[in-house]
Amino acid sequence: MLSLEVLTMAGRVALDIGRPLEAVAIGSQGAGAAGILSSYGVSTLHVADDPRLAEYAPVAWAHAIAELADQVNAEIVIGTASDRGGEVMAHVGARMQVPLAANCTEIAPGDPFIVIRQRWGGSLLEEAHIKARVKLLTLAPHALTAEASPSRTDVTTRAFTPALDDRDFRVRLVPQVEADTGKISLAQARVVVGGGRGVGSAEGFASLEELADLLGGAVGCSRAVTSLGWRPHSDQVDQTGTRIAPDLYIACGISGAIQHMVGCRAAKHILAINTDPAAPIVAQADYAVIGDVQKVLTAVNAEIKRVKAGAPSRTPA
Ligand SMILES: Cc1cc2nc3c(=O)[nH]c(=O)nc-3n(C[C@H](O)[C@H](O)[C@H](O)COP(=O)(O)OP(=O)(O)OC[C@H]3O[C@@H](n4cnc5c(N)ncnc54)[C@H](O)[C@@H]3O)c2cc1C
Repeated sequence: MLSLEVLTMAGRVALDIGRPLEAVAIGSQGAGAAGILSSYGVSTLHVADDPRLAEYAPVAWAHAIAELADQVNAEIVIGTASDRGGEVMAHVGARMQVPLAANCTEIAPGDPFIVIRQRWGGSLLEEAHIKARVKLLTLAPHALTAEASPSRTDVTTRAFTPALDDRDFRVRLVPQVEADTGKISLAQARVVVGGGRGVGSAEGFASLEELADLLGGAVGCSRAVTSLGWRPHSDQVDQTGTRIAPDLYIACGISGAIQHMVGCRAAKHILAINTDPAAPIVAQADYAVIGDVQKVLTAVNAEIKRVKAGAPSRTPA
């Protein structure tokens, strides 16, 4: 998803500077991407041809990207500002001896080459002028909506073999075990029910779980909640956790601190449930219910179950 946002932005920039848009695929899943890339205006897909790159290895991936950028004489290299994207692109910058402008939201190529980028977790937007020979950027998640073009390009797939050595693999992914919760992930969920300190306890999240199940969504939380040990870090929605972009974010007992809002501001709609009408989240939400979260959710869950069971909604027309 984030890669498609980067392709959308990169396509606009390539058009602006009159250069072809080229993509690089590293790792086990990239080689089959030519089909989708053709709807994003890509002319060439470079596939790094070394089996050791199949698993995540940030220094080696960066080596491959830097080498390719030199080979194709790239003017601008754009990556995602995901955890991995940020790590790899920082290594690319170090290798190429050029600065990295991270978390860009707008890119205006020209002289000066201007970017707008998020600082301080998105609470500040900075205009930066980049003078480096190669402009190295990451695009902030959800800075724009990914848009495929109705016309398709012919994508030439080209293998390249970077000159890697063992030192490039000093940092690499060792076998990982994925938690099989059988539930939809926070990043993919169309509805996220987030809980904050106002939920009251770990047990208090049962009503949020129930609502998420009823709506086919996922449960998230604020950092206060993970610090209290009520939920695991993997549930955290914010600048240091998952950044979400659901259709609906239901923020329950969350005050709306800036660090939390960075993680949920891409939600299409926010519904706040809070006892305090002056809580910052209430001002930032599209809808708010002022009341005790457990009482509100008990009523909401009961109503959804009633309607799902075939009873007419009690909501006035
Ligand atoms: C350097 C720094 C970095 C930080 N980084 C992060 C970060 O990455 N992510 C993050 O989330 N936070 C971060 N924080 C903390 C952040 O500033 C907030 O303190 C935190 O997000 C607050 O979490 P909360 O909204 O759950 O709790 P609170 O701020 O305590 O808010 C609880 C809310 O629940 C409401 N409430 C209480 N009882 C009820 C009830 N019964 N029913 C309904 N509503 C109720 C209250 O009115 C209040 O609005 C950081 C702080 C610092 C200083």
